[in-house]
Amino acid sequence: MKPVSLAILGSTGSIGLNTLKVVDQHSRRFQVTGLSACNNFKLLEKQIKKYKPSHVAVGQEGLDHFKKTGIKGVTFYPVKDCTQIASLKEVDVVVLAMSGTGALFPFLGAVRAGKTIAPANKEALVIAGDLIMDEARQHQARIIPIDSEQSAIFQCLEGQRSKPAVVHLTASGGPLRKVRSKDFKRMTPKDILRHPRWKMGPKITVDSATLMNKGFEVIEAKHLFNLSYSQIKVLIHPEAIIHSMVEFADGSLLAQLGITDMRLPIQYALTYPERMPTGLKGLNLAKLGTLNFEKPDLKRFPALSLAFEAARLAGSMPAVLNAADEEAVGAFLKGKIDFLSIYKIVEKVVLRHTIVKNPSLQAILQADQWARIEAQKLIGS
Ligand code: MG
Repeated sequence: MKPVSLAILGSTGSIGLNTLKVVDQHSRRFQVTGLSACNNFKLLEKQIKKYKPSHVAVGQEGLDHFKKTGIKGVTFYPVKDCTQIASLKEVDVVVLAMSGTGALFPFLGAVRAGKTIAPANKEALVIAGDLIMDEARQHQARIIPIDSEQSAIFQCLEGQRSKPAVVHLTASGGPLRKVRSKDFKRMTPKDILRHPRWKMGPKITVDSATLMNKGFEVIEAKHLFNLSYSQIKVLIHPEAIIHSMVEFADGSLLAQLGITDMRLPIQYALTYPERMPTGLKGLNLAKLGTLNFEKPDLKRFPALSLAFEAARLAGSMPAVLNAADEEAVGAFLKGKIDFLSIYKIVEKVVLRHTIVKNPSLQAILQADQWARIEAQKLIGS
């Protein structure tokens, strides 16, 4: 069998590294054709030597470095041109492992080239879900999500002839689930980055602390599975063993369970529709004993309500929500604002925005820029 040719965009981040572990596990099945990374060109260099991709996109510092050292057989691109790698003829599957809005163009490029896309990135679908899904239908591009919740829903819907009545997105509750709201103000990036269940990048870990991450996943699920917002419910499940559930008209629920290791959903997306050994330990339910569930506390975590509201308003609003959040979380991680200000800033920017209905790509990018400027003004004041 010809190996599946992969482009892994964001190969030095947490999803990228896990994707390469899956490649190691099934090294004859996959061939790494493209890699990209923004800043960590030292790690990227190791990956290039090991996996021998023919196309690599990297930030300016990396470009300068590789120009000096020279690596044979590799075409280098500035990282902003990683879309070219996503749409290369020889690429079968594009893994969108980078976080942030920068994934939008490679996502669209891969969709227009009719690729199979395995997105871990949620920003692109949050801000331009309608456009991406329209183009995916037009170009018969297949999207197999890597985000654990979306992968769970995807798996629960496999082979079903009926549409889901309700989708239950589970959430671990994040690092602040047990913290009193009066202590939120004191939370430093270091406190937040000790996430109890999943090991992830800093931006998404802060988003899990505010539950904004779950809000983004609601928007993502709506687009991926063509749902209405009233069909999506969020359920706190601290053990994070059930990765999400689908409920049907008869009241039956299907759940996908597994250990909290991203290699599971990544591998599923890469070997779909086949299932293969992961080399990981299975789930020991008897040892675990109990699974817990609770309703999300919207008073302590108002970002989730705000995300639902922005989602319902639709148009350019999800893009504004996302951009304001990215700026505010960035400022928090740099120690410029306190934890509670993240929500305050995002809410203010959302309230100031005049929605553009059915926005074009151009209008989405304008809304994104506008929201960043507004957020920065609030951060600076
Ligand atoms: Mg998730």
